Amino acid sequence: MAEETVDVLIIGSGHSGGMAAKILTEKGISCLMLNAGPVADVHKDTEPKPAYALPFRGFSQPGRLPHVFQSNEFNANTWVDEREVPYTYDPQHPYNWVRVRLFGGRSLFWSRQSFRLSDYEFKGKSHDGFGDDWPIALADVAPYYSRVEAIFRVQGRADGLPQYPDGNFVPDDSPWTGCMQRFIAAGKQMGIPVCKPRNSLGVDGLASSVNLLLPDAFATGKLKAIPNVVVRELSVDKKTGLVNEAHFVDRISRREMSVKARVVVLAAGTLESTRLLLNSRLANSSGVMGHYLADQVYGPGIVCSVPEARDGRATPELIGGGALVPRFRNINSKAKNFIRGYALNVHSSTRPMDPRNFAAYGEELQNKLDSYNGSGFSTSIMGEVLARYENHVSIDQKVVDAWDIPALRIETKYTDNEFNMARDAVDTSIALAEAAGFEVLSRNYDPNPPGYSIHELGTCRMGNDPKTSVLNKWSQSHDIKNLFVVDGASFVSAGWQNPTMTIVALAMRASEYLAEQMRQGNV
Ligand SMILES: Cc1cc2nc3c(=O)[nH]c(=O)nc-3n(C[C@H](O)[C@H](O)[C@H](O)COP(=O)(O)OP(=O)(O)OC[C@H]3O[C@@H](n4cnc5c(N)ncnc54)[C@H](O)[C@@H]3O)c2cc1C
Repeated sequence: MAEETVDVLIIGSGHSGGMAAKILTEKGISCLMLNAGPVADVHKDTEPKPAYALPFRGFSQPGRLPHVFQSNEFNANTWVDEREVPYTYDPQHPYNWVRVRLFGGRSLFWSRQSFRLSDYEFKGKSHDGFGDDWPIALADVAPYYSRVEAIFRVQGRADGLPQYPDGNFVPDDSPWTGCMQRFIAAGKQMGIPVCKPRNSLGVDGLASSVNLLLPDAFATGKLKAIPNVVVRELSVDKKTGLVNEAHFVDRISRREMSVKARVVVLAAGTLESTRLLLNSRLANSSGVMGHYLADQVYGPGIVCSVPEARDGRATPELIGGGALVPRFRNINSKAKNFIRGYALNVHSSTRPMDPRNFAAYGEELQNKLDSYNGSGFSTSIMGEVLARYENHVSIDQKVVDAWDIPALRIETKYTDNEFNMARDAVDTSIALAEAAGFEVLSRNYDPNPPGYSIHELGTCRMGNDPKTSVLNKWSQSHDIKNLFVVDGASFVSAGWQNPTMTIVALAMRASEYLAEQMRQGNV
C-alpha cells in the first residue's frame, strides 16, 4: 500500500466519515476509508439471544464495559472493550466514554433525536459573555441542515421558536395524548414551551452511515473501505509540512501497514480523532488541542403518575407519546445561578412502573405496582455543559491499548453551573407536573458522570484565530491545510441539543469546501 497515494484518506466510517465519503466521491474524488472495527450485519447481529445462550447468563463479563451504562450482555459486542482500548481518568472524576468501532460507528445505534443548534449556541458569547462564539452562525449551516434532514428524514413540527430552529421536516401530524395536553397547558401558564420531539426516521428502522450515506459513495466506484484496521499515527512531509501518510495496524493479524495520501479527513469520533492527532504531535501550534471538552449533563429528572390512568384506566388517548421542552432559560431573562440552558425530554408510558419509585415492599409494593401500572410520565434533562479550557484530554504515556497505541487521559468535571442547572430542571419539572395534576413519585438531582450523554464534543475547536483554535471555520487545520477534522471535535460549545445533525451538516459543508479547494489546486 505504501506505493499507492490515495486522493483522500478518511479515518472512521460513522456519521461524519460517511458524509465525507458521500460528498467527496460524488464530486469525483477517490477516497480510501479505514475503520478500526469489523463490518456488522445490524439486523442479524442484533437479534436477541436467550439468556441461557450467553456465557454470563445476561449479567455481563466483569471489567469489559464498566463505564457503558447502556451495555448489558445481550448487546455487549456493540461497544468498545475497555480492556482492549483503555483510557484513564482521576478516579474521583470518572468519565463515561461510550464507543462503537463497528463499521458505521455509533450511527448504527443512536437514538435519532435530531436538532439544529440555534444562534443562542453559535453566538453564545455574544449573548452571555461566556466562552467564545463559533466562527459561523446558523445562517451558514442552515442550507446544510436542510439537506441532511432530507437524507435522514427528520420528522418534526415547525414551532417558530428562535432557540429551537425549524427545519426541513417530514411533517409530524400526530395528535397529543391527554396527559401531554395537560403538560402543555401547565407549560403555557408558566411561559414554558412544550413542543413535539424531532427524530430521524431513516429507512427501515436505521438512520446510519451504512444505509443512508455509504451506499451512495460506493455506487460512484470511487470509494474503497478497509475494516479492522486501527490508525496509530499520521506523519508529515518534512519539506512541505503537509500530512502525507497514515500508519495503521491490522487489529487481528497485528500486521503494520501505511498508506500515502494527498489529504486526510479525520472522522474517528471526537476523542479518537484528537487522540490520533496528539499521538502524531501534529496541528497543535495553538496549544488548545485536547481542551474545551464538553457534552450534555444527563440523569436528573422526575417520574410521575397520571392519577386518572391508574387501576387499569389507562387509554391510548390519555397516556403515551413524547414531548420536548426546548431551552427556555436565559433567552429573554437571566436565571439566578447558571448560564446557558437545558431541554427536557418528556415521555409518557403504559409500561409497568419501576419498583424503585415506591418506598414500600412486599404486599404493599405489589399493590402499588398493580395500581400505578400504565400511568407513567417522566422528564429528564439535556443540559449544556460549559466548554471550559480546564476540561481536557491528553496522552497517558504509561498506558497503551492492545496495539501499543498510547491511551487517552480524560480530565473533566462538572461545576456549579451544571449542578445548579440540573436542580432547576428538576424543580421546574416538579412544578410543571404538579400544575398538570400528576403525582410526583421520584426525583433525581444527581447527574450521571460526564460522557454519559455519548455526546463528547470539542477538543479541536474551530475559530478564526489560529492562536486560540485548532481548525478554521471549514473544519480545516490552521496549521496543516490538507488535514480536516469533520466529527464533533470541531465544536466550540456543546449546546443542549443532541449534536449529530450538526456534526453531519458540518461534515457536508467541510467536504464540499475541500472538494472545491482540490478542484482549484489549493489543497
Ligand atoms: C446509544 C446511543 C444513542 C445516541 N443518541 C443520539 C441521539 O438521539 N441524537 C444524536 O444527535 N446523537 C446521538 N448519539 C450520538 C451519535 O451517535 C454520535 O454523535 C455520532 O454517531 C458520532 O458520529 P461520528 O462519525 O463522529 O463518530 P463515530 O460514530 O464514533 O464513528 C467513528 C468511527 O471511527 C472509527 N475509529 C475510531 N478510531 C479509529 C482509529 N484509530 N483508526 C481507524 N478507525 C477509527 C471507529 O471504528 C468508528 O466506526 C447516540 C449515540 C449512542 C451510542
